[in-house]
Amino acid sequence: MTLSTARYNVILLFGPPGSGKGTWGKILHQIPGFYHFSTGEMLRLLDVESDLGHRIIETMRRGELVSDEITFDLWQKHLHNAIVIGRFHPPKDTLVLDGFPRTTRQAEMLNRVAEVKLILKLDCANRDILVERLHRRAILEARLDDANQSVIRHRFTVYDTDTEATLRNFSNELIETIDVGAPPVQILSAIGAALARRLG
Ligand code: ADP
Repeated sequence: MTLSTARYNVILLFGPPGSGKGTWGKILHQIPGFYHFSTGEMLRLLDVESDLGHRIIETMRRGELVSDEITFDLWQKHLHNAIVIGRFHPPKDTLVLDGFPRTTRQAEMLNRVAEVKLILKLDCANRDILVERLHRRAILEARLDDANQSVIRHRFTVYDTDTEATLRNFSNELIETIDVGAPPVQILSAIGAALARRLG
């Protein structure tokens, strides 16, 4: 399969920093036929000794978005590798995207190679709960972008100004909003119900 002919069936995990995209993405990955892919994780694993890796890590450390072209290029290559080594089998497998797309341009790029079946919009009216989670994650996962208050604030602003607007590229009918301020079992149940309704 060439890069340009790949066609993916996709669930988007959408939400501000700390909303649990990675946590729930990893849980969904355990369901047979689901493949979770996080662009943040992909970028964090780049070799910081390389010129590109160094520039990208610096961008992330400031809480800014990596360029659309670089992100999409790496995204395509990683998915292609996952197909080649037999971990991901499109279109049979559903691709659970965590952290992509984050801009309108990325959404346009995605729509060229994928069909979005469902958008799980994880959010919580009380952002303090999310900030509290980020503080815990900074310690547990040694994430530099979670350790700094002004970077955290900047990432929320980027989410509210650029990333939320990305949803306009998709039909409202695809969106299921999940309250991530609820207890985990209720979140699991809400996500399960949304999946059963849309894909079951
Ligand atoms: P969070 O959503 O909690 O901020 P992520 O791991 O999804 O965590 O993203 C961390 C950082 O990685 C972002 O702040 C950004 O710098 C970079 N990043 C992740 N996904 C993208 C993307 N799709 N486009 C551009 N930059 C991205």
